[in-house]
Amino acid sequence: MDFNLPEDLVLLQQTVRKFADDEVAPRAAERDHAHEFPLELVRSAARLGLMGASVPEEWGGSSLGNLGGSIVTEEVSRVDASLGVTLSVHNSLVATPILRFGSDALKRKYLPKLAAGEWLGAYALTEAQAGSDAANQATKAEKRGDDYVLNGVKMWITNGAYADVFVVFARTSLDDPSKKHKGITAFVVEKTMPGIRPGKTEEKLGIRSSSTTELVLDQCVVPACNVLGEIGKGFSVAMDTLDGGRIGIASQAIGIAQGCLEASLKYAKQRHQFNRPIADFQAIQWKLAEMATSIDSARLLVRRAAWLRDRGEPCSVAASMAKMQASVMANRCAEEAVQIHGGAGYTTDFPVERYMRDARITEIYEGTTEIQHLVIAKHVLSAT
Ligand SMILES: Cc1cc2nc3c(=O)[nH]c(=O)nc-3n(C[C@H](O)[C@H](O)[C@H](O)COP(=O)(O)OP(=O)(O)OC[C@H]3O[C@@H](n4cnc5c(N)ncnc54)[C@H](O)[C@@H]3O)c2cc1C
Repeated sequence: MDFNLPEDLVLLQQTVRKFADDEVAPRAAERDHAHEFPLELVRSAARLGLMGASVPEEWGGSSLGNLGGSIVTEEVSRVDASLGVTLSVHNSLVATPILRFGSDALKRKYLPKLAAGEWLGAYALTEAQAGSDAANQATKAEKRGDDYVLNGVKMWITNGAYADVFVVFARTSLDDPSKKHKGITAFVVEKTMPGIRPGKTEEKLGIRSSSTTELVLDQCVVPACNVLGEIGKGFSVAMDTLDGGRIGIASQAIGIAQGCLEASLKYAKQRHQFNRPIADFQAIQWKLAEMATSIDSARLLVRRAAWLRDRGEPCSVAASMAKMQASVMANRCAEEAVQIHGGAGYTTDFPVERYMRDARITEIYEGTTEIQHLVIAKHVLSAT
């Protein structure tokens, strides 16, 4: 067993870290304050090949796999979790399902543009009554000639205001709603198709410079050739996609926690009380030790899940374990980081205040912590 990253991923990690430190970090707090979407940075990320992390070279991507994608999301989220989720959604929730379930024509049309960052992606599953119960879809897709006509409203769509391509889920078994997850189909929808538009923009506690909007589908006409996977099999597309997405959010959580640890180490060495640095106090040392250990253990779970998915092995439970552990851990690390900073940590003068707000979402989207417990419990109970 080798715990070292392969050489190419070490190089990737160094490259993304430099990009994060030099280009992303300097204005991260300002963007958060202004709720400013990092459009220029998305373009810079594209130039580095980070928008095609999950896309093979034959389709214009950088073939980094899930492990590479995890490193990209972690390193970016270490300084800016908003940009981290922007990239993670684009790579794991949009390019990946098109790659895994798309026809050759869909791959040819969308993957090169997504990989080059010419087009940004979004994933539209959630609705008002379909959150954790994602199969409870009310958006309808009705076949009319060679097209489908979609009607409904999606909620809390990351990248919603800036995306060019949406992976949208809708009910195609219109006569039989009792089919629930068996009656759902996935579609690739372009923002220029008639009848699709972003709705209300959400004001959020954290990840404020990411875009989160409603997505309104009002007589939205989508060609039948833009069905992703098979008719009625969209729920499997959604769940398979979320396996990779959960690895992405777990990576975002690791990045936030790592940022918390680094900020805390720096502050603990420079802040003096009782004539010595607070890092001399055992109470602070224990917090730092626990943060470092919990980050390492969660990172191992994340890398195992990414490694399994890259090998084509089942990874749903591993991804749920990684997300559950990493997101709870990130919240704990963020709390400790604020505590180590004392009053300064409660102000916007230090980044840990932002990290604490950003960490909160990792326990909510792409399956709440409670839903990850359900997935894991079902597995362990059925295995005995
Ligand atoms: C900032 C942000 C960005 C998002 N981005 C996207 C996106 O890009 N695309 C997209 O499709 N969605 C997105 N979402 C939606 C997100 O995935 C959902 O919010 C999430 O799945 C939870 O659904 P809900 O908010 O409706 O909570 P609910 O399902 O209403 O849950 C409320 C509470 O009840 C608990 N609960 C629910 N069911 C159970 C159960 N069976 N057992 C135990 N506890 C339960 C939950 O864990 C939670 O604590 C985003 C959300 C946010 C806030």
